[in-house]
Amino acid sequence: MNPYSNDKGKSSLRNVFIDAKIQKNCIYSFEYFNFEYLIVFMTIQEITKIVEEIAPLSYAEDFDNVGLLVGNPNQKVTGVLVTLDTLEEVVDEAINKNCNLIISFHPIIFSGLKKLTGRNYVEKVVIKAIQHNIAIYATHTALDNSIIGVNAKICEVLGLNNPKILIPKTHTIQKLTTYIPIKDAEKLRLALFDAGAGSIGNYDQCSFNMDGFGTYRAHKNANPTIGEKEILHQENETCITVIFEKHLEQSILKALFKNHPYEEVAYEIITLNNKNQNIGLGMIGELSNTLNEAEFLKFVKKSMNTKCVRHSKLLQNKIKKVAVLGGSGSFAIEEAINAGADAFITSDLKYHEFYKAENKILLVDIGHYESEQFTKNLLVDYLTKKIPNFAIILSETNTNSIYYI
Ligand SMILES: [Zn+2]
Repeated sequence: MNPYSNDKGKSSLRNVFIDAKIQKNCIYSFEYFNFEYLIVFMTIQEITKIVEEIAPLSYAEDFDNVGLLVGNPNQKVTGVLVTLDTLEEVVDEAINKNCNLIISFHPIIFSGLKKLTGRNYVEKVVIKAIQHNIAIYATHTALDNSIIGVNAKICEVLGLNNPKILIPKTHTIQKLTTYIPIKDAEKLRLALFDAGAGSIGNYDQCSFNMDGFGTYRAHKNANPTIGEKEILHQENETCITVIFEKHLEQSILKALFKNHPYEEVAYEIITLNNKNQNIGLGMIGELSNTLNEAEFLKFVKKSMNTKCVRHSKLLQNKIKKVAVLGGSGSFAIEEAINAGADAFITSDLKYHEFYKAENKILLVDIGHYESEQFTKNLLVDYLTKKIPNFAIILSETNTNSIYYI
C-alpha cells in the first residue's frame, strides 16, 4: 500500500504519525499495522535545497524576488503543490490537498509589502497562506537561467535538437588559486573536484598547477603545521588554480579548508568576466525537419497548447533554427537574430517590438502563461524523481490571467 496515492491525489501524510529522527533526505521503510510504508520526513529547507540544485538562487536576476517568501524553513512538509502562480485558489487547493508548501514559478511578493491588510490579491494570498501555515517558495529567474530549466523544457516540448543557452551569463564563474605543500596537493585537488570545481564544458577535473616555494614566519602565538615559530620558513608548494560556478563557493571553500594542512590558508577567489555556457536566459536549437513558416506556426500552436499565436511579417523563409525564451522576451530579439535563429518564440511582445524582426527573423508571441506552462511539470517530474515517495502534486488550478474568445 502506498499511502501517498489515493484517488483524489491528496497527500495522506497526515494519516501517518511516526516519531522519527529527521535526517537529510532520509527514507524510512518498515512494517506498520501490517502495511509497508515508505515514510519521508523532510523540512521545507531540505526540499527547497533540492530545487536549488537545478535552480540556485544566485542564478536569479537582480530585480527578482526568489526563494522562500512565506514560512518557516524548518517546518516539516506534509506535501508540495507546484504551480506557476500563487493565487488564492492555489492556496485553497493546497489546503484541500494537505500540502503546506507551495512551490511557485512566479513570486507572489515581487516589489515588497509595506502593509498586510488584504486590500489586494497579493496581500490576500499571503494572509491566507500564513493563516493556514502554508509556505510559499518561488524559483522564477533562477529557473529561467538554468540549463535544465524553463527554456530547456520548451525545447523538449518542441523537440529542438542541440539546445544551447541563448544569452550566456557573465560573472558566474569564479577562479580559486591556493598554495599547498607539494605532498598535499593531490588530495586537495581531488577534494576540490569532488566539490564541483574544475568543470569546463565537456571536461571535468580541470586545473592548472605550478610548483614553486612559499615563505612564511610564524608569530609566537601561531601553531604552524610545518616550520618553527619566529623562524623564516621556506616550503616547496604547488600553486593550484581551478574554476567553479559561483553558487558552489561555500562547498569549494569547505573542501579547501578541510584538506589544507596549514593553520592559515592562503587563497584568492576572483570572479571572471567569461561567459558561462551553462547558465543564462533563452535557448536555441534546431528542428529535426525544416518547416515553412505556416507549418511552423501551426506546429508551435499545437505543441505549446496555445489558442492564439501572434507573429511578425512572414518572410517566406524556411524555419530550422529556433530560439526560445519563456516569459517576456522582447529584450532578446537582437540576440536571437545574432545567433542565426530563423524564428524566436517568446511572449509579451508590444506593437513596436514586432518591427524589430527587421525582415531577418520570424517573431512568435505565444502568450506568457503558455510559454511557461510546462515549467510546473518540469518541477514535479524533477522532484518526484529526487524524492519518489514524497507527495509532489501538480496544481490543477489554471492561473492564466488572459482569456481569448
Ligand atoms: Zn513569467
